[in-house]
Amino acid sequence: MNIETAGNGKQGRGILFVISSTSGGGKTTLARRLLKSLPDLALSVSYTTRDPRKGEVDGSDYHFIERDEFNKIKEPGGFLEWAEVYGEYYGTSRLAVESVIEQGRDVLLDIDVQGGRQIRDRIPEAVLIFIIPPERDELIRRLRNRGTESPSQLEKRLSAAREELALMPFYDYAIRNDDLEEAVEALRSIIIAERCRVTRWRK
Ligand code: 5GP
Repeated sequence: MNIETAGNGKQGRGILFVISSTSGGGKTTLARRLLKSLPDLALSVSYTTRDPRKGEVDGSDYHFIERDEFNKIKEPGGFLEWAEVYGEYYGTSRLAVESVIEQGRDVLLDIDVQGGRQIRDRIPEAVLIFIIPPERDELIRRLRNRGTESPSQLEKRLSAAREELALMPFYDYAIRNDDLEEAVEALRSIIIAERCRVTRWRK
């Protein structure tokens, strides 16, 4: 290893970070806050077949596409991972993530637990962080406040939340999101510590 060029932290390829949580776990707010304090971290913009919610911007929140377009990317292996969530398809562009990592930048994926599991299998060195949702009452309140789900969709999301929690053992870290400031600080600390791992320094 060349200590002179290693500097204060890792060099070479970027690190792939994944955050997942159950629905209403608040990870999208967390991810946005995190990017403000770590601006060199790149957020991967997923592809989805679901309709945009009010205020969402194509190309920034998601790339909103039709099912046949999704399949055209999926079939030749264009997604690093993909999953069906609540009846809609979501996927991460392989090319976009690989090119950012090749440039030495770290990338953050905000994806569901099925996607997290695929990343665990395909990219063992990725760092997976599970966001534990606040207590059930708070979870219901958050989902209701968002006001984007009908009562039956709300029930679907709550029952999915129970199943998703069971996948936590595939993750490296878990953060309880009761207090936003504390959760952002914990996430930030994990990322900074991972960047300093000796094994990530250029050999
Ligand atoms: P929402 O429709 O609320 O934006 O997202 C629903 C779920 O899909 C969330 O858990 C979100 O993290 C997940 N999701 C978003 N993009 C992707 C993706 O590219 N792959 C996977 N596997 N899940 C995603």
